[in-house]
Amino acid sequence: MPKPKVAFYWCASCGGCEEAIVDLNEDILKVVELVDIVFWPCAMDFKYQDVRDMEDKEITVAFINGAIRTDEQEEMAKLLRKKSLLVVAFGACSHLGGIPGLANFWDRKTIFESSYGKGCPSVDNPDFVVPQTVTEVPEGELELPAFHNTVKSLDQVIDVDYYLPGCSPAPYLTMQAIEAILSGELPEKGTVLAPEKTLCDVCDRNETKPEKMSISQIKRISEVIADPEKCFLAEGIICLGPITRAGCTEEGSGRCITANMPCRGCYGPPTEVKDVGGKMISALASILGLENEENMSDEDVEKLMNQVVDPAGYFYRFSLPTSLLRRKRMNNPAKEDK
Ligand code: SF4
Ligand code: SF4
Ligand code: SF4
Repeated sequence: MPKPKVAFYWCASCGGCEEAIVDLNEDILKVVELVDIVFWPCAMDFKYQDVRDMEDKEITVAFINGAIRTDEQEEMAKLLRKKSLLVVAFGACSHLGGIPGLANFWDRKTIFESSYGKGCPSVDNPDFVVPQTVTEVPEGELELPAFHNTVKSLDQVIDVDYYLPGCSPAPYLTMQAIEAILSGELPEKGTVLAPEKTLCDVCDRNETKPEKMSISQIKRISEVIADPEKCFLAEGIICLGPITRAGCTEEGSGRCITANMPCRGCYGPPTEVKDVGGKMISALASILGLENEENMSDEDVEKLMNQVVDPAGYFYRFSLPTSLLRRKRMNNPAKEDK
């Protein structure tokens, strides 16, 4: 009987999700025994034409990491969708837009200006030459993929069957997903293949988490040495554990918590939370007692909240493209929103 065929592809990605596959360690040998890897351009010499030549639905499952930023990524996502029975959005960038999605606070013009123009001190480019999709050279035409104005999550471009969250997904969750796919014991379409609990639910520091607290200062982790036994929120350090899905470690607290760093929310929210930033701001307001802010002056409340440096970047670090905000408003979205 032929083995199931598996594809891996990266879009707008840092490469960490590809390393997460390698992090399967000896389990990767089990995977290779059970499946045929038919496309993994990051690791082996496959060509796009190899995929174009396949029958529709010939690939059992395609794991696609990274957000969608360019024409090439969109084209490959659509091609892999056509050729695959199942598509798994692999990692936070694919699932929620991820770190590349923070670029939605700007538009293409601003990004090009800061990378190729006066905004970049190390670039000498007085004519402001920027990447073009087609460039004529004596040898012929050179092509580059078009750079979209808006970063999208994978499911904003193609139909996605399952999501493996995290920056990057924990190897044990990846193995569980592969085993579920191979055994055909799959949950409902659209499921995020990680626990529904929050990180606070599994965190060793949960007992010290305050129901309400009264603090005069919100601190950044870089400014203090955090007590390794105490909930970060109790110390006035923002931790996104209350609105983040558990699962980044198989047992115990999350990866960052174990390293004495607050959670930044890379596993995304549990299903019932629709907007990470909005929910975290309301959780924070409740913990800080701002719901009863009649005892505080407007000035005091503003002073406290102003201590959150870069709130949009902090609360939407991994999820801006799929949040209610989605991106910075543009003057002509219909024309520019590609
Ligand atoms: S989810 Fe994280 S590790 Fe994966 S591509 Fe995005 S930034 Fe890199
Ligand atoms: S807020 Fe952070 S440190 Fe506190 S219990 Fe939740 S995950 Fe743990
Ligand atoms: S602790 Fe939070 S930010 Fe860190 S890996 Fe886990 S979910 Fe991601």
